[in-house]
Amino acid sequence: MKKKYLELVELLHKYNYYYYEKNESLVSDVEYDKLIKELEKLEENYPELKVSNSPSEKVGSHFKTSKFNKVTHKKSMLSLSNSYNISEVENFIVRAKKSIDEEMEYILELKLDGLSISVIYENGKLVQAITRGDGIIGEDVTENILEIESIPHYLKERVSIEVRGEIVLPLSNFEKLNSQRLSDGEELFANPRNAASGTIRQLDSKIVKNRGLDCYFYYVVDGENFGISKHSDSLKFIENLGLKTSGVYEICKTSKELEERINFWEKERHSLPYETDGLVIKINDYNHHSILGNTTKAPRWAIAYKFPAKQVTTKLLGVTYQVGRTGTVTPVAELEAVEVSGSIVKRASLHNFDEIRRKDIKIGDKVFIEKAAEIIPQVIKVVKEERTGAELEIIPPTHCPICNTALAQEEGLVALKCPNPQCDAKIQRRIEYFVSRDAMSIDGLGGKIIEKFIEIGKIKDISDIYLLKNFKEELMSLDKMGEKSVNNLIDSIEESKKRDYSKTLYALGIPFVGKFLANLLAKESKSIDNLAKLDIEDLLNIEQVGEKVANSVYNFFRTEENIELLNKLKSFGINYEIKENNDTQLETFSGKTFLFTGKLEHFTRNEIKDIVEKLGGTNLGSVSKKLDFLIVGKDAGSKLEKALEIGTVKIIKEEDFFNMINEDSKEINSEQNNNSKLEPQSLF
Ligand SMILES: [Zn+2]
Repeated sequence: MKKKYLELVELLHKYNYYYYEKNESLVSDVEYDKLIKELEKLEENYPELKVSNSPSEKVGSHFKTSKFNKVTHKKSMLSLSNSYNISEVENFIVRAKKSIDEEMEYILELKLDGLSISVIYENGKLVQAITRGDGIIGEDVTENILEIESIPHYLKERVSIEVRGEIVLPLSNFEKLNSQRLSDGEELFANPRNAASGTIRQLDSKIVKNRGLDCYFYYVVDGENFGISKHSDSLKFIENLGLKTSGVYEICKTSKELEERINFWEKERHSLPYETDGLVIKINDYNHHSILGNTTKAPRWAIAYKFPAKQVTTKLLGVTYQVGRTGTVTPVAELEAVEVSGSIVKRASLHNFDEIRRKDIKIGDKVFIEKAAEIIPQVIKVVKEERTGAELEIIPPTHCPICNTALAQEEGLVALKCPNPQCDAKIQRRIEYFVSRDAMSIDGLGGKIIEKFIEIGKIKDISDIYLLKNFKEELMSLDKMGEKSVNNLIDSIEESKKRDYSKTLYALGIPFVGKFLANLLAKESKSIDNLAKLDIEDLLNIEQVGEKVANSVYNFFRTEENIELLNKLKSFGINYEIKENNDTQLETFSGKTFLFTGKLEHFTRNEIKDIVEKLGGTNLGSVSKKLDFLIVGKDAGSKLEKALEIGTVKIIKEEDFFNMINEDSKEINSEQNNNSKLEPQSLF
């Protein structure tokens, strides 16, 4: 037992050392917390084992090496106890209520993921800034703090005050920084927090200035000295002094209310411009703080609520290869199964070999993986410090894993490609793309069915799906396919022949032609025959079409296989032109541009974009002077601000948008029913 305990102590010391001295995480927060809990449990059960410098006692690091002067905090900077679910929050409240028998108010704040700092102002002037350090002694980083724009050098009043806050690197600046480091061949930061703390502990304050750090304050030391009696008032107080807070401090009276707000922020945090790893719940009244007091590590009047982690560490077991629609071979990380954001992850994207080389990823490595909302898991970085020497290089494949054709690399491009046009993998991906929701929107034709029919040789290219109606029996022999679902599938396939020309164009999967360009090209060309005739110059004359797209479209219509496919599709009756039907173009929409922001109540983004297009309008991707209408949903943010700034944008609510649709669209609704899912009336 002693051996196990000492090993754990040593491991945690190592993690702390890297974290606090080198701004590097060798382990994910989740795993770290688990190890600390394990240590505490051992110390509880076998108190005789406990060493004097146990990591369980410390808030942060004891400096072994330091470039900065060490300063003792006048008041310790404690950390917070963590909770991971609402019942732990309830326990915190129950415990507090044992000491306090009057009504309590709780205040909920965002827990920003950065570097904690204590900033001291004397007579309104910033005189010193100290990192948390081990909570008792921190480092003097005043010079660097002075370079952060959002930290004022002078307060609006000449008060002497110590305030605590979190220095963060906004997500947009973090992405910029890491992509710069990638192209400079420098080691990547695993997350904005490491980047922020790495930046603050730079000796060169010019670097700090350029990185665009931000700071949000959340605590006043000895707030009662300013006649304040509540935490929420202290935040208002420092806001009035010119200090920035996150603006989020919500007062709740019950654990039910807290739960509601926790659920809200769990979703909403993804729209914030910086990373949050949780929420902080504090008891609002200062009197209650002094009654409850602190443990050696944390106050008893506050608790952190941690969101499910989106970054974890695991082991890279191997690499497999996926062949995409255009033949691009993508390396995929096969991982030791691990839970991230509530789901089990076994695979993650490695993008391409350049990235593998730049991140220096090897098989057997311990890796950081991240799974953000709605994004496929990705390998962020490698923990090189934990290499044993047994790790293996990842060697690019020479042949297609599906059809065994020798792979090719296009000049100037990093991706390896399977050049075989008949590669089963490519055919399958193309069909999956063709039938997808934004393309031909064929329900019920899943990957399994496509794979099966390719395997038995009944599907050789996209157009063969229109022959599936001849293979009802084969379809019915597939798992879970009753006669009804087979008939539905065949109806859905037939129905797809009537899709708008722009959808057909998108479904063809011309390289670089996404939804937006497909729409634009459809409008410009009116029919695929016209489009096929355009030469590169004609194409370049279309606004928003660049050289890459022009070449791609031009080449597409001059490749024999494609022409053959287009002709086959034509023979099945696929719609290749814009049906002139002016009824569907509303005055109010025609030629106008639209953008949506915030949460919409009645439509999904795609639905509403479809409506705009159907009615003759254009969707824009960002706010600019070209924008005519900004439709504002709940909790609209920066787009709304920008639109207000421009001044010429008409800002309307979702209801107003409904009214615009319904003004004189009654005749449209009857027409739309046959070929689209858009029935705005049914939404009321
Ligand atoms: Zn292949």
